[in-house]
Amino acid sequence: MSYQVYALRYAEKDLKECQFFFREASQAPLTLHYYLWVILGGPHPLVVDTGFAAAEAQRREARKWVSPAEMLARVGVKAAEVPVTLISHLHWDHWGGRGFFPGSQFWVQREELAFWTGVGGQYEVFRMFAIPESLAELVRLNYAGRVRLVEGEVEVLPGVTAHWVGGHTAGLQIVSVPTARGRVVLTSDASHYYRNIERRDPVQIVTSLPQMLRGFDRIDELAGASRLVVVGHDPEVARRFDEVEPGIVRIA
Ligand SMILES: [Zn+2]
Repeated sequence: MSYQVYALRYAEKDLKECQFFFREASQAPLTLHYYLWVILGGPHPLVVDTGFAAAEAQRREARKWVSPAEMLARVGVKAAEVPVTLISHLHWDHWGGRGFFPGSQFWVQREELAFWTGVGGQYEVFRMFAIPESLAELVRLNYAGRVRLVEGEVEVLPGVTAHWVGGHTAGLQIVSVPTARGRVVLTSDASHYYRNIERRDPVQIVTSLPQMLRGFDRIDELAGASRLVVVGHDPEVARRFDEVEPGIVRIA
C-alpha cells in the first residue's frame, strides 16, 4: 500500500528561542507553525491530531487561524466523516479541535490518557499545556466507545504504524507511513523543529528528557535512508517539501 501524506497549516504564533529550546539564552524570534496531518490512499482517510478551535486561538494569541476542518476540505476530506483520528498527544494544540471530528474514534496511547487525567493536573508546569474541558470530554468519549487505547507500537492502517516515544509528554506517539517516495515519519512534537532532531537539541517542554533524546534516535531509525522526516511546528516543513497551496504541504 502506498499512501499520500499532507501537512496542513492552520495557525501561527511568535515566540522567542529562549522560551522554547532547552537552556537557550537567545532572544531571537521564533515562529511556530501549527499543523495537522492527513494520510490518503488507504481504506479511509487517516487524520493525525485535531488542531484547536477558534476560541483557543484567541486565548493563546495564535494568528492566521483557519479551521482544521476547512484545511481538510481543501484536500477533499470531510472532517465530520473521518472514522479514525490518531492523537499524537493531548496538548491543547493537538487535542483542542476534537469537535471537528464528530464521527471519529480517537486513538490515544494508554499512558497519555493516564498522565493527563492524573498527574498532569497536579502541577502548573503541565496544566498550562492542557484544556481541562477537552480532557473531561475525552473521558465522556471513552465511555461512549470512541476512544481506542493503544500501547507501544500499533498498526493503524495496512503498513501505517504508530510508535510510542514519550519524552515531550508521557504517551507521545509518532507515525510511520509507506509512500511512493519512501517511508515518511510524522514526528509531531517528538521533534518540534528540525533543529531538535538534527542537533539532538531538546525543547523545554518535557516529561522525560532521556525519552525525548531516545525519541530522536527512534525517528532516525524509522525514517532510514528516505530522510522524509516531517517535524511538528517548523516553518521549514513548507520549504523542505512542496507547499502546493498556502498552508497545504504535500509530503509524498
Ligand atoms: Zn504542539
